[in-house]
Amino acid sequence: MQLKDADLQPWEAPDGLVKYWQLVVPKKLRSKILNESHNQITSGHLGVKKTLSRLRQKFYWMGMRQDVEEWCQACNVCCAKKGPKKRGCAPLQLYQSFKIAVFCESCKLLGIKKTRTTPLRPQSDGMAEKFNWTLGQELAKYCVEGQSEWDEKLPALLMAYRSAAHESTGYTPAKLMLGHELCLPVDVLMGRPSGEELPTDTSSYTKHLQERLAEVHHQVRKSLRFSGEVMKSRYDAKANEVNFQAGDNVWFYNPQRKKGQSPKLQSPWDGTYTVLDSLSDVTYLIRRSRKSRPMVVHVNRLWQYHGP
Ligand SMILES: [Zn+2]
Repeated sequence: MQLKDADLQPWEAPDGLVKYWQLVVPKKLRSKILNESHNQITSGHLGVKKTLSRLRQKFYWMGMRQDVEEWCQACNVCCAKKGPKKRGCAPLQLYQSFKIAVFCESCKLLGIKKTRTTPLRPQSDGMAEKFNWTLGQELAKYCVEGQSEWDEKLPALLMAYRSAAHESTGYTPAKLMLGHELCLPVDVLMGRPSGEELPTDTSSYTKHLQERLAEVHHQVRKSLRFSGEVMKSRYDAKANEVNFQAGDNVWFYNPQRKKGQSPKLQSPWDGTYTVLDSLSDVTYLIRRSRKSRPMVVHVNRLWQYHGP
């Protein structure tokens, strides 16, 4: 593919610190770009925000946000692993309290003193927990066919994580550590504009790097304060009420323990099922196919199917 100047447009972040040349993508190439930026292993099936900010580093088209939202919503791999945003959590609590008891007992045995974070209360160690959770989710999406090579997939997934903007800081981990973005397969696919400025000698590179890092780190300290407030307001938000109609296609939350497989690397959402009837506010009759037996299930285990 040949790049012309007319295909490029400049983009500047609101803080004025980041400037990119974005490639204006024609309609017929958009699904290819979306696929490269979301589905490939170095893209990691990350969520809407991360996929969008990854795309914005390089591409532009009208209605990009909506396209990304729809792409992620229709991605079967993401849906099967993630499920809906809000769900009841009674069984999880039971499981957690068992784990807490085991962990406390182990600490006592090993003479470990508890610090200010509570064991297995992820909220008290948000950053690390969020990272572990994200990585676990991404790993599971690439372990659909088998769990044995999860460790081989780690480097590519870490590349995906490092090249995606972090919600709290607004920057990619690569940018914060290295002062520049990573070169990804999609860059090879689409090429980069020839006029991009690159430092010529090492001393000016180091100087620029130091300046860029100082600026970026300053910006991050500001964003982190803001992000804490956003997290709190999200935490305070109320759960949505869900309703399904007969004939709706749904995902069914059905985590299964398989011998020799870790539940963390499995996709617990099974689909699709069809809603046959609503039996009460919280119970529905569903079935997988015409031949299978209908089941009565709780609404917390259901989620609207958006896929094809
Ligand atoms: Zn996906």
